[in-house]
Amino acid sequence: MNLRNVVIASQNKHKIEEINEILKEFNMVGLSLKDVGLASVEVIEDGLTFEENSYKKAYEIMKLTKKITLADDSGLEVKALNWEPGVFSARYAGDNATDEDNNEKLMKALEGVAFEDRDARYVSVITMIYPDGRKLVARGEVKGKIALEKSGDKGFGYDPYFIPEGYDKTFGCFEMDEKNKISHRGEALIKLRDLIESEERK
Ligand code: IMP
Repeated sequence: MNLRNVVIASQNKHKIEEINEILKEFNMVGLSLKDVGLASVEVIEDGLTFEENSYKKAYEIMKLTKKITLADDSGLEVKALNWEPGVFSARYAGDNATDEDNNEKLMKALEGVAFEDRDARYVSVITMIYPDGRKLVARGEVKGKIALEKSGDKGFGYDPYFIPEGYDKTFGCFEMDEKNKISHRGEALIKLRDLIESEERK
């Protein structure tokens, strides 16, 4: 695969960092919105599914840049909360909520719920759109549990409370490359790479 530039339609610097780290392995270079002169553009995420929001973000930015554009829409789904917060993960505690606010709300919502009933999963849907309208979509998931208490200060969002299946520590205790190997975003990007490869063989 040739080295190529892909715009990453996100203002979330943690996400961009994770995506860039993985794209490097695919010989791709991620450009931030700042790199393409769109530092302050926000796409309104009014879809009810990760697929809708992911498509909307990629499409709106591709229209402005006319370059291959990729967007991740992701979130945390918690079984005991009827799979909330889902697509509302970033603004679970309100429109301008910080990660701390969201985690506080999550802990309150799960008060009294035993560890064995704290099943959760992270979901990431990545959409890549070419300027000619071709669209590739990949979904990744990682199952886990919500911890009873915070641990670790790496990652972002709900990571200090998310224990991936098969481990006894939260994503907050993972180095980024270790997290990327098993994360929802890592899985979606690997699937996307396969889709890109078959698209280019057409
Ligand atoms: P989006 O930018 O609208 O896709 O919102 C994603 C939100 O989901 C983030 O702001 C986090 O709250 C949560 N989230 C998604 N992926 C992760 C992750 O890898 N770690 C922690 N939180 C995540």
